[in-house]
Amino acid sequence: MPDQNKRDYYEVLGVSKTATADEIKHAYRTLAKKYHPDVSTEPKDVAEAKFKEISEAYEVLSDPDKRSRYDQYGFAGVDSSFGAGGFNMDDFAQEHGDEFGDIFGDIFGSFFGGSRRNRNPNAPRQGESLRYDLEITLNDVLSGKTATLSVPHTSQCPDCHGTGAKDGKTQVCPECGGRGQMQQVRQTMFGSTVMVSECSRCGGTGRVYVTQCPKCRGSGIVSKNSKIEINVPKGVEDGMQMRVPGAGDAGVNGGPSGDLYVVFHVKDSKGFKRDGPDLWVDAETTYPRLVLGGTVKVKNLEDQEIEATIPSGTQVGGVLKISGQGLPVLNRETRGNLYIRLGITVPKRTSDYEKELLLKLDEEAGNKRTRSKVAKARASLFGKKQRQS
Ligand SMILES: [Zn+2]
Ligand SMILES: [Zn+2]
Repeated sequence: MPDQNKRDYYEVLGVSKTATADEIKHAYRTLAKKYHPDVSTEPKDVAEAKFKEISEAYEVLSDPDKRSRYDQYGFAGVDSSFGAGGFNMDDFAQEHGDEFGDIFGDIFGSFFGGSRRNRNPNAPRQGESLRYDLEITLNDVLSGKTATLSVPHTSQCPDCHGTGAKDGKTQVCPECGGRGQMQQVRQTMFGSTVMVSECSRCGGTGRVYVTQCPKCRGSGIVSKNSKIEINVPKGVEDGMQMRVPGAGDAGVNGGPSGDLYVVFHVKDSKGFKRDGPDLWVDAETTYPRLVLGGTVKVKNLEDQEIEATIPSGTQVGGVLKISGQGLPVLNRETRGNLYIRLGITVPKRTSDYEKELLLKLDEEAGNKRTRSKVAKARASLFGKKQRQS
């Protein structure tokens, strides 16, 4: 049943019926700051009711679909969208908590039971993982290699073993009494809730140094540059990653270090193009060899000369395949193929004898064309006559 005492949503937010989404959001922000039960100067129950009222209005007017149903049918158009118990503040917080986190921050956190702050700050956490981009050549892919990487990362301070304390001497944190967290109990419309936050003095560890470690200035963490050796696997593909466990940044609260991810970038080189395990290379030959057939010499990736056979009648752009002269397939013994794409070299200077031969060739080709034209014309004439008869 619609509540007869409900005020119009536009009126609640103090905006016009034609207000833009930004105007509605701004109005809600302003009112939410004013009426939040934890900060309002109004009596608690009044502030709570107001806060709920403006939140419900915002829930409807900030959603284009709900807003249009409200404009057409009033409360009856949107009541069904709230579920059995009507408008629910917890659902609203779930949906809009992040949207208004920038201005509400802690207020939202405490108001809605601190559910977003239940992480135990004392828990050990793994350090950040790092990424290292490594450029390699096709020859590295062919033969594999050992690469030494210089990786900057954070590491546990060797002098204080991560405690931040000179000579390892620590004491119970006077701020939190060693619990690592600060607790605050608050009364809200949902009863009392406990707000837990990490102790800022000890960073959640519960202990602080007696004297600061001079090497890490009490942080327990130092910057380091480590030399890390990895084996580039044969057949590795562009963009593949290799994980080096524990080579990332130092962990927190005694947690393990993060990992290092080496990302391989394979450069095309020496005129070779890669296609998976196959290699492609261009080679030049002559017109007579394409026509009559012959051989062509290319160098493989290892720089060895290879002779490939050109079949007669090969077209410009034709491809010759040499099996097993490509790249290794990752984790397998097999190798891909080498493909040679044929082009022709046109000589810029020719001898008189060559010119003579070429002219004859051209004439012959021309005669062939003429002969075939005559034959075609005859055929079409003959064909027409046949159809007419
Ligand atoms: Zn503390
Ligand atoms: Zn230290």
